[in-house]
Amino acid sequence: MTTPWKLAARAEKMNPSAIREILKVTERPDVISLAGGLPSPQTFPVTAFAAACAEVLATDGQAALQYAASEGYAPLRQAVADMLPWEVNPDQVLITTGSQQGLDLIAKVLIDPQAKVLVETPTYLGALQAFSPMEPQAVSVASDAEGVLPEDLSAKAADARFIYLLPNFQNPTGRTMSEARRAAVSAAAQAAGLPIVEDNPYGELWFDEAPPLPLTARNPEGCIYLGSFSKVLAPGLRLGFLVAPKALYPKLLQAKQAVDLHTPIFTQRMVSTVMRDGFLDRHVPQIRALYKAQRDAMVGALRREMRGLDVEFNVPKGGMFLWLRMPEGIDATALLARAVERHVAFVPGAPFYAGEPDARTLRLSFVTATEPQIATAIAALAETVREALAH
Ligand code: PMP
Repeated sequence: MTTPWKLAARAEKMNPSAIREILKVTERPDVISLAGGLPSPQTFPVTAFAAACAEVLATDGQAALQYAASEGYAPLRQAVADMLPWEVNPDQVLITTGSQQGLDLIAKVLIDPQAKVLVETPTYLGALQAFSPMEPQAVSVASDAEGVLPEDLSAKAADARFIYLLPNFQNPTGRTMSEARRAAVSAAAQAAGLPIVEDNPYGELWFDEAPPLPLTARNPEGCIYLGSFSKVLAPGLRLGFLVAPKALYPKLLQAKQAVDLHTPIFTQRMVSTVMRDGFLDRHVPQIRALYKAQRDAMVGALRREMRGLDVEFNVPKGGMFLWLRMPEGIDATALLARAVERHVAFVPGAPFYAGEPDARTLRLSFVTATEPQIATAIAALAETVREALAH
């Protein structure tokens, strides 16, 4: 008799990430992918890690290979607290296995089945995926080029567990909340007694000027803040952190213990060693300069190639992504298959919406492909759009 595996209801609800499925297609070497959210490998500080790895093994080898504290490596927690632009006690810092794990822990600690969770329109797909096994009702808050609208937040806040916000160079749109919008959103959330989960993996990747202060800095007791080393050092480290109010911290820690006991201590010690002596202050400006040049290359190519087409796009002030809206009648998901035939890939916007999707939207990454590849890919994308409009 075959063994009858009965799936849990939550497993029935899990879906393969639309983005990961697309990435499989784009692994073909003849396709230029503007789809993935992959930082440029040129920016990974391989030499610094080689030196730190040797040093950690030589000086703390046994401790680096032993089980360790669930909260994280104390010097790294201190470094995180020192890095943030508001008063943070290192006791409030929980080192996570990527900020994606922070989203999972938050979901476990704060979401009951059918509980209401507010999100931006559109929002980070990976957060929707992390929340969904806890079976929330994800409610989309109306948003414009500066993020969520405070009036709609107030209208939908009743009984919501939290609102999930990405104020800096948002994934997927690349948009940033202005100072005025932050003040209004923070005030509206406080007036409604609505906690904020603030996700900020891209905040350091600004091009001309640093973005305004995080929402958490304005009301630390009402916010959980998520940060990541993926975009400033390397995503393969799987290293992130969260900063939580004291009342919530023990629950997040217990959830973390159940998931993986602790984040790899070897990695934490290596990163702590790499970051010594202001390494990030020298390293991150190089990433900013590279990504700014790539953004300019993409915006230039779009202006050139999309001329005469009713294609709207933004010019992000930092981060990795740019958001496009295709002409009337074009569905970006259908367009992808045609684009791949022309050796270019992007991510359709639809999966990023918790509510009704705008099928005309799509996300482009300007950091993974080189400048000549960007020029080729945008020309191919424009041809794809022209062909689709002709049919
Ligand atoms: N939040 C957002 C908005 C992201 O774009 C990503 C990475 N794509 C994550 C969280 C997860 O990042 P990490 O590598 O730190 O898990």
